[in-house]
Amino acid sequence: MTETADARAAITATLIEAIGAPVILIDAQGTIRALSPAARSLISGLDTGKQLALVMRDPDLIDAIDDVAQRGGRHVVELVERVPVERTFRIHIVALEGDGRRHAAMLTFEDLSEQRMTERMRVDFVANASHELRTPLASVLGFIETLQGPARNDEAARGRFLGIMREQGLRMARLVDDLLSLSRIELRAHVTPQTPVDLAAIAREIVDSLMLLARGREVTIALDLPAQPLRVAGDRDELLRLMENLIENAIKYGRRGGRVEVTLASAGGEASVAVRDDGQGIAPEHLPRLTERFYRIDTAQSRETGGTGLGLAIVKHIVLRHRGRLTIESVVGQGATFRAVLPALPQTPG
Ligand code: ADP
Repeated sequence: MTETADARAAITATLIEAIGAPVILIDAQGTIRALSPAARSLISGLDTGKQLALVMRDPDLIDAIDDVAQRGGRHVVELVERVPVERTFRIHIVALEGDGRRHAAMLTFEDLSEQRMTERMRVDFVANASHELRTPLASVLGFIETLQGPARNDEAARGRFLGIMREQGLRMARLVDDLLSLSRIELRAHVTPQTPVDLAAIAREIVDSLMLLARGREVTIALDLPAQPLRVAGDRDELLRLMENLIENAIKYGRRGGRVEVTLASAGGEASVAVRDDGQGIAPEHLPRLTERFYRIDTAQSRETGGTGLGLAIVKHIVLRHRGRLTIESVVGQGATFRAVLPALPQTPG
């Protein structure tokens, strides 16, 4: 290489290093000559001097690079990686000035993983929501037909069927309410709530309102509150909802005749709400998925207790909107603890 070629290569390498997006420069032999830091962190194992084809072994990508090296021009390849996590890239391969009959090339990467995941989630969500609505709707329509036809004059059947139809109607109404809450919280996700709200007052209010449900399952609720109000900058309705969903779940999915502990505390500028039950607990494989929409461990049990499968998804979105975090811990056989941690306002007495 001449001195000018060396100098040019050095400038090119510096330029590529400075680019924020993932970019790789290879020579006509497929050796990596320069790469941006973003490319390095996107795909592990890449480095200057290495053969690209030995690190990224996708046959379509190798063919495309080869074709660009032989004939110039450009190619676009979509690449799906499955391990360690699923990622989708769109890679643009463009020929640069070659040495001899082969061309060097520049590869630029677009990471489509998030876009693909969002698309899939949207499709799944619509499918799930429709399915959840269709089941009770089919049941209501079935009973209406029966009442118009074979059971037209059957007094006893009418009473029973109307009862079931009411139940199914209420289930659809709950589902629509939950879907609307979820989309309302999501719409406001970027606006951090500002009103000072006392979490202790919220906990008291919700525990009172759930007393009847707790009594029905012979559950005792122990409320452990700090001496002072525990203030956060929040949205009161959403925080009521968060508290209600967590405590109601602990009552419903905890042990009949068991104990639910609701503990509020503040530490290091944060306020935490921990809801603990002594029920069956949750197997580790379910934990990461519990806050997904419509994810339930036992669908029949959830439906029997009026669950929509959206409660924890709503809780997660409320926590995120409040710039907090939600953790779930559980030992199978010993119950579960759901903890929401939110940034606290400076605590003043009274
Ligand atoms: P649902 O409307 O079904 O209650 P959630 O989103 O509130 O929906 O909860 C999702 C699932 O998580 C429930 O169906 C249940 O299987 C599980 N779950 C929630 N809370 C608990 C708990 N305290 N103990 C055990 N399982 C729980």
